[in-house]
Amino acid sequence: MTRRACVVGSGPNGLAAAIVLARAGLHVDVFEAEAIPGGAVRSMELTLPGFLHDFGSAVYPLGAGSPFFASLPLHKFGLEWIHSPAPVAHPLENGTAVVLERSLKDASISLGEDGRKWEDLVAPFVEHWKEFAAEVLAPIPAIPKHPFLMARFGRNAFFSAKTIAHRFGTERTRALFAGLAAHSFLKLTEPLSGAFGLMMAVPAHAVGWPIPRGGAQSLTHALCQYFASLGGTLHTSRRIASLDELPDYDLYLCDVTPRQLLNISGSRLSSSYKHKMQTFRYGPGVFKMDYALREPIPWKAAECRRAATVHLGGNFEEISTSEAAMRAGQHAESPFVLLVQPSLFDPSRAPSGKHTAWAYCHVPNASNENMQTRIENQIERFAPGFRECVLARNALSPSTLESMDANLKGGDISGGIMDIRQFAFRPTSRHYATSAKNVFICSSSTPPGGGVHGMCGYHAAKKALSTLGG
Ligand SMILES: Cc1cc2nc3c(=O)[nH]c(=O)nc-3n(C[C@H](O)[C@H](O)[C@H](O)COP(=O)(O)OP(=O)(O)OC[C@H]3O[C@@H](n4cnc5c(N)ncnc54)[C@H](O)[C@@H]3O)c2cc1C
Repeated sequence: MTRRACVVGSGPNGLAAAIVLARAGLHVDVFEAEAIPGGAVRSMELTLPGFLHDFGSAVYPLGAGSPFFASLPLHKFGLEWIHSPAPVAHPLENGTAVVLERSLKDASISLGEDGRKWEDLVAPFVEHWKEFAAEVLAPIPAIPKHPFLMARFGRNAFFSAKTIAHRFGTERTRALFAGLAAHSFLKLTEPLSGAFGLMMAVPAHAVGWPIPRGGAQSLTHALCQYFASLGGTLHTSRRIASLDELPDYDLYLCDVTPRQLLNISGSRLSSSYKHKMQTFRYGPGVFKMDYALREPIPWKAAECRRAATVHLGGNFEEISTSEAAMRAGQHAESPFVLLVQPSLFDPSRAPSGKHTAWAYCHVPNASNENMQTRIENQIERFAPGFRECVLARNALSPSTLESMDANLKGGDISGGIMDIRQFAFRPTSRHYATSAKNVFICSSSTPPGGGVHGMCGYHAAKKALSTLGG
């Protein structure tokens, strides 16, 4: 008899899990609460008709570099990555910008006196990306398959971003590294924040920081189409309040965070496991803006037009101050802003000649503060006249984000803080397994954590299959 599995939630991790299970020959049903699948990988007309905005994620270094996604025929289902000439630009107060070039050689030249140090830091992992990605996008193994490579990574991984950045001689490179490390939602003086900087820098050279043609939804569409081709069924507008409302399945995989798992699995979990779920810690949230623009953003530093992603926050110290405020439960006056300008490289995102922009800053979890003015001040600082280009804008506060994707608890986009305490045992030392033998958790609250790579779903499904026997 064919075994049956269900997946609750169709984010990239839920879909990855569903695909692994369907490829293993199981009959798989996916239940998704929202009308459109994809979770934080969806696109919508959030401002004006014809302007397509990515609701959540927008740029996919780990999507392009994911060992699992790379094994799927997603291009046959319409996925096409677009690479901007440079992965990321970082404008500075003096009207110039430091640009991280895709090629490591070019990056080394453009970073001048720091070029050699940059190469020393990232080259081993860029050259062995496949091996490196397989190790870091997985639970920490007792014995790594590539011990020398991982020992080299480990030497840097536990340092703070500050420690690594201060190896560089110029303010420009230190600022660039601060912007990369600030993706961690950690203080730049915290251990592990340096590892996040590396995890952003290495794929920039190894696989790029691409955007999907047609928006984030194209990635979800390709995953859904491939899943359907394997015989899987996706049920949208089906919010699961309790696993008990579902028919019997051999396996239940939940693309939800610990608090939601507690709610839907009820009496199936042991009290000690429930206690661990209750003590799981969520991280800071984001406040996000989407813009429909009359014209491209008028950057002071023209180089910013070469990159889909632009980091706004000035030098290392300013970004460090912004992230320390957020970690201390405050709102930075001059927040670090991550901005994406996809329509410069993908005309399908806006009517002819018009543009879109996506920008967010970090805020304390469940913050109610409106950060629109502070985000726009930060953009204006590096692109005077930006506000005059805006045709329409839409704000997504932490609570609105959570109302559109229940996993974004308090606006936390990583499924729980990824600090030193919650890094290795995520959400518990069992990782994907729970105390119920056929219930598994497969969201970004499991290793390797936040980001669109599908590797949480992949590893969870492999673990679940290993329990089936026969
Ligand atoms: C604003 C923002 C910007 C981001 N930027 C990037 C980026 O540029 N690059 C990047 O790599 N990552 C980015 N991320 C992070 C990335 O999107 C997430 O880490 C990733 O989507 C997590 O995938 P997931 O499958 O674990 O969860 P999600 O994508 O959150 O999907 C969970 C799904 O489960 C569904 N669900 C929840 N509860 C139930 C229920 N009870 N019944 C049925 N369905 C349920 C939800 O509706 C949702 O569809 C961003 C996220 C946000 C929000």
